Amino acid sequence: MCITIFHPADGGYDPRPHRWLADRCPGQPDTAIVKCSNGHLIVLDQHKIAEDGMVTPKVACPKPGCGFDEHIQLALWYDRVDGIRAL
Ligand SMILES: [Zn+2]
Repeated sequence: MCITIFHPADGGYDPRPHRWLADRCPGQPDTAIVKCSNGHLIVLDQHKIAEDGMVTPKVACPKPGCGFDEHIQLALWYDRVDGIRAL
């Protein structure tokens, strides 16, 4: 099963779970910060994000007791410039 993580369509900070924001460092591949089902922030700097938004490997939430451990796909990853603006 794969969970779809949504782009913050309203362009602002979105406190709901299953949202992503792009994170870009010069000279490095774009990465993202996502929220798990329980609203915890997870930085995907150890993951690979394909152009279609598929994240590998599976994403596990580091928060003790959370239990989020899923394959995820970032919706509208190709449009991530807007996600960076939203930060
Ligand atoms: Zn979590």
